[in-house]
Amino acid sequence: FDLGSGEVSPAVRRRLANLGSASVLFYRNPIEMVSAEGAWMIARDGQRYLDMYNNVPVVGHGHPEVIEAVTRQMRQLNTHTRYVVGVVDDYIEALKATLPAGLDNVVLTCSGSEANDLAMRLARRVSGGQGIIVTENAYHGNTAIVTEVSPAAIRNTALAEHVVTVPAPSRENFGDDIAGGFAGAVEAAIRQLRRRGIAPAALLVDTIFSSDGVHADPAGFLVPAVAAMRKAGGLFIADEVQPGFGRTGEAFWAVQRHGIEPDILTMGKPMGNGFPMAAMATHPEYLDAYCDDYGYFNTFGGNPVAAAAGHATLRVIQREGLMENARDIGARLRAELRAIADRSPCLAAVRGTGLFIGIDVCEPDRPRTPAPERTLRILEALQGRNILTGSAGKFGATIRVRPPLCITRDQADIFIDTFSAIMSEMEGGDAGYAASGRYRPAGHEYV
Ligand code: PMP
Repeated sequence: FDLGSGEVSPAVRRRLANLGSASVLFYRNPIEMVSAEGAWMIARDGQRYLDMYNNVPVVGHGHPEVIEAVTRQMRQLNTHTRYVVGVVDDYIEALKATLPAGLDNVVLTCSGSEANDLAMRLARRVSGGQGIIVTENAYHGNTAIVTEVSPAAIRNTALAEHVVTVPAPSRENFGDDIAGGFAGAVEAAIRQLRRRGIAPAALLVDTIFSSDGVHADPAGFLVPAVAAMRKAGGLFIADEVQPGFGRTGEAFWAVQRHGIEPDILTMGKPMGNGFPMAAMATHPEYLDAYCDDYGYFNTFGGNPVAAAAGHATLRVIQREGLMENARDIGARLRAELRAIADRSPCLAAVRGTGLFIGIDVCEPDRPRTPAPERTLRILEALQGRNILTGSAGKFGATIRVRPPLCITRDQADIFIDTFSAIMSEMEGGDAGYAASGRYRPAGHEYV
């Protein structure tokens, strides 16, 4: 295993020896974590880190209501999914009340990958096509068919014939008409599939375009692209694994910001506040069509403990007004970040909605030239001052900010003050940083 030239701690060496090449670690000096609470994570050496990045513990690390619900249900009953258990239906009914119209069947799975895998299979069965259109740096999961539509995870291999990518819906790619430009790219991708003799099955997008660098605006830009796919006989799959459950601050599901009712919606990450669970929601007739040909059974998907975790998480998001908190704190963060970007020659655009924010890092006074190494240096400077963030985008030059939705104003201010200080110190300074070998040191990824 190539560890590059840096010093590697015994704990990291042990991890890599045990988990091998598939081990993903953040930072050149990965942090050994021992506990967490709310928006804070505590390391083995006693350092406390502000978690500005983790979109799984949506109601905060170790929320007592989720822990209590999981513990109580585990004690009372946990089983595979072949029996009727009321807590599961209670949860699904509460979840369905948040979903776009018509998505009346919900299949519970254990991971977002499984949910997207099933979504793709449904789309192919319903449309009769095989072709899938995704964005150029998309990530949708780790099963065989989902990896094929996850260019962010593919190295050294060409995309499969039935997969065509479109550029991320950004101003850089499409100018002011993002809606028209993106739809035009989807239409061109459909034509390309047809030239290969492949009918389109689906347009599959992460509705916040997280791994493409966070693209939220203008809300509604997805409408003509979705219409183009439907006109061609394919479905629209909204992957809400990252932006779902209120993170965008404006709607419970990001696709609702665009005013679209998707044919299939998938969700995961924050769903159980860390309990492994995910789901695919769709129209009953689509699921019926698929199940006429194939069965679908998932031993752990939707077990009673998962339902308890999911229901407690949903209750807390709603009762504590976390979507509204995402809207308010997010707006404050973006305003402050824009002010910092205006005076920092190495920062370009600040994008996002709610608590999903992307900050482009560029070469000094060259806003159109992405600076991935400088980005890593900023992430490590933040790490050095006890703040956790990550990066994204085609060039790995977008800092991604995505804290638990319970983050407070004071915590947001800690991040802003620290980020501002780092950017002032860095002004004009050179990156002087080289990533080493296969041990990819920081958060340019899709988790
Ligand atoms: N879709 C998106 C947009 C994701 O970001 C991820 C995970 N990073 C997945 C799907 C896959 O989810 P999981 O890791 O739970 O399989």
